[in-house]
Amino acid sequence: MNTFLTYEEIVSKCEKLNDIYEIEEDKFYRIVENWSDRDVSTDSKLLATYKELLQVVSNEVESMEQAVEMSPTCRLGCAFCCYFPIIINGMEAKLIKEAISHFPKSREEGIKQHLANYYDKYSDEIEQITRLDFENDPDFKYKYKKSNIPCPMLNTETNQCMAYELRPIPCRTYVNYTNPKICEEEVMPKETISYEFLYSEYMGALNEFLQFLYEEGDTSFIEYPNDVYEEDYLANWLKELVIIEK
Ligand code: SF4
Repeated sequence: MNTFLTYEEIVSKCEKLNDIYEIEEDKFYRIVENWSDRDVSTDSKLLATYKELLQVVSNEVESMEQAVEMSPTCRLGCAFCCYFPIIINGMEAKLIKEAISHFPKSREEGIKQHLANYYDKYSDEIEQITRLDFENDPDFKYKYKKSNIPCPMLNTETNQCMAYELRPIPCRTYVNYTNPKICEEEVMPKETISYEFLYSEYMGALNEFLQFLYEEGDTSFIEYPNDVYEEDYLANWLKELVIIEK
């Protein structure tokens, strides 16, 4: 028996969510307050704040699902959404790279080796698809996804993310509540939901934290505010990491 929500049911639940749910902005800013005055290095503060803010986004998605009784049908090992373009700014890219450098050595080396193989295999395709103008081309997502090039962080043998706890906002906020088959059958299924609006609370808090550090005179490996304004494909940011480390 089919127990998946229909498209109409999903739309109706989203409308209800709009009416009843209020995002608790304070949750984001409390993390900034909490880490601002801690007696630890700036690097530690940055990484901890970043990871906690990412987690708040995931928790907020879960709270919204509970509020309207929806459960994701995304399954472990299902990775069709990992073929979408992921756009992040320079600050997020540096935070991801820094966090990877704090992984246990074997995990860090595994990721670097995976990335080296990835760029050997897909360098031409990446060069081509990252020419898509994500700021001005309204179809860039469709065109990118249609090219069927996996995210650099996707292990295509296990279909799992190699840095799952660091996955950026688009990866955390794209959810399917109906038959998972739609993700296999369609390039951009209309039934899926994006909670990407949570980006503004997340980035607002992260930006406030960097502003605080900037005023204190130490933003460590972040070049503030320039890194916040520079956006690019994750596939380009991670390529830089491999080239630099080679
Ligand atoms: S970062 Fe991870 S979760 Fe996000 S698209 Fe890439 S492989 Fe998938």
